[in-house]
Amino acid sequence: MDQPILDEGADLLRKLWSSFVPPRIIFLSWRMLQNRIPTIDQLIVRGLVFSDPHLSCPFCSTTLESSQHLFLECEFSRNVWHNVFTWTGIRLELPSSLGHLFFLLRSMFLDKVKRKWRDIFWHATIWVLWTNRNEIVFRNKTVSHFDFPYQIKIISWHWWMYRNGCRPGFTFAAWCFDPWLCILRG
Ligand SMILES: [Zn+2]
Repeated sequence: MDQPILDEGADLLRKLWSSFVPPRIIFLSWRMLQNRIPTIDQLIVRGLVFSDPHLSCPFCSTTLESSQHLFLECEFSRNVWHNVFTWTGIRLELPSSLGHLFFLLRSMFLDKVKRKWRDIFWHATIWVLWTNRNEIVFRNKTVSHFDFPYQIKIISWHWWMYRNGCRPGFTFAAWCFDPWLCILRG
């Protein structure tokens, strides 16, 4: 049986679908929070691969790959989250559970406009971690965590620009400098 990652329940999971990002991006988070993406631990549980010490996390190669490890516990991913928090001014200690991280990120904004857009950084980070993981696993690519912040910034900027009517005046440089300023003025 799958052990859901999100302890806070189905209501929070439903709210995921109101995020201002493309449905396929939401779908990845939705599956991940239910522990239903094909990480190696899940493939072993389903009997699709045999347990093998070489089948470890593609980022750090030290631990069996699970969603909990890949998206949160891995030193590589922790650096990515810290970078996102620094960029967005989010003051948060990474919790021990991925579901709790999602819960905290959804709970911390009081401002109405910020609440509307709060999921965008979560989705961008999860998406970039997963797609780079797949580049390593399926295309044997080498990735650097130095590239991740740029990828997160550019993909979230594209989503925001698309939903915001692609108005001029909000350059990528402005987004990199202060995304909340763009969101609040948008
Ligand atoms: Zn790792």
